[in-house]
Amino acid sequence: MMFSRTVWLAVCGLVLGGSPVRADEPTEATWRADLPAGQFCATTERYYARYGPPENVQRGGCPLDGPCDDPTIRDAYTVGEETPIRVVRTQVIVFCRTNGSDCLTTADDVDAQMVTLNETFAPYRIKFEHETSFARRGTYRIYNDIDERPMKNQYAVEPQRRLNIFVVDTTGFAFGTFPWDDDALTAQGGIVIDVDLFGAGETILTHEVGHCLGLWHTHHGVSEVDRCSACYEVPMDVNGDNTGDRCADTPATPVNFDCDRPGGRDSCSDLRWRQTDYENYMGYAPSFCYTRLSPQQAARCHCWLDDVLWSWLVPYCPEDINADRAVDIADLARLLNDFGTAPSGPTDLDGDGVVGLGDLARLLNRFGQECH
Ligand SMILES: [Zn+2]
Repeated sequence: MMFSRTVWLAVCGLVLGGSPVRADEPTEATWRADLPAGQFCATTERYYARYGPPENVQRGGCPLDGPCDDPTIRDAYTVGEETPIRVVRTQVIVFCRTNGSDCLTTADDVDAQMVTLNETFAPYRIKFEHETSFARRGTYRIYNDIDERPMKNQYAVEPQRRLNIFVVDTTGFAFGTFPWDDDALTAQGGIVIDVDLFGAGETILTHEVGHCLGLWHTHHGVSEVDRCSACYEVPMDVNGDNTGDRCADTPATPVNFDCDRPGGRDSCSDLRWRQTDYENYMGYAPSFCYTRLSPQQAARCHCWLDDVLWSWLVPYCPEDINADRAVDIADLARLLNDFGTAPSGPTDLDGDGVVGLGDLARLLNRFGQECH
């Protein structure tokens, strides 16, 4: 499912009779003033500061940001046993003092954090590979808004090919970049995370990666859009696929910092809050409370990875017959060994029942590639 952003927006404009493009150029950061004290995630505030809050361009729903906002397209990515495991390249950039001392964390701690990230995404068939770099630049070690742009420009590593994660001292917050943000695949995309939120067992990174793979907060439709607007999500919303976080399987909830369902009523519908998914990674519960993403959230991640972020993915190739992560001479030997036979094994790449020229052509086409 490959749509270019341009094509999709053109299609969208035709269908809706109006453009969902947020035309405003990104503005310089003013979002820090909007960040409530104690809130660990600044993704939405920063996004709104740059692109504006959602406009009601469509009746009965939030603005569309791409094809993965279409529930039919999303549902085609519902995760099951047949879903390919998508492997995302990442780069973790740790800042140190200019003389190389006092790096904010160690390579071992980065490795441990990435183990945790992989554990949290494993049920959803998404994996992360990482490389770690240490940046000797004391001025960027302590995060400052005005330094974000030059810091990323100087230290982002292959942003078209990998999700960059900048570990700095932010005094307690982190933010990611949505895949529909024009910056997503540039140096200005990626994640900035406070060192105190980063390390073995920490799950704030899971939350920020969720944003980068296309997830809104579970409370988006209540606490981050205008009250009772077209994007607003009420309890028992029958239009949950098109309101709030665009996932009908994450119930409407106000922002909630507790590991428990919220009390009280929705001020728009006057309905009581029902059972909410307060253990969801995309809420604001304490991180010990996090346990899951919903099936529709997982499907959104796969869809956005496939549609926009595919250049971050380590290619999946059945041509890597011996699964050693590269299509090489060993795979060719296996295929040639079966040539002309009808094995039920992995060498019949085109599934026509016999190992023949078609299979050989496929393998040679991928020869020399890295794979997962
Ligand atoms: Zn967030």
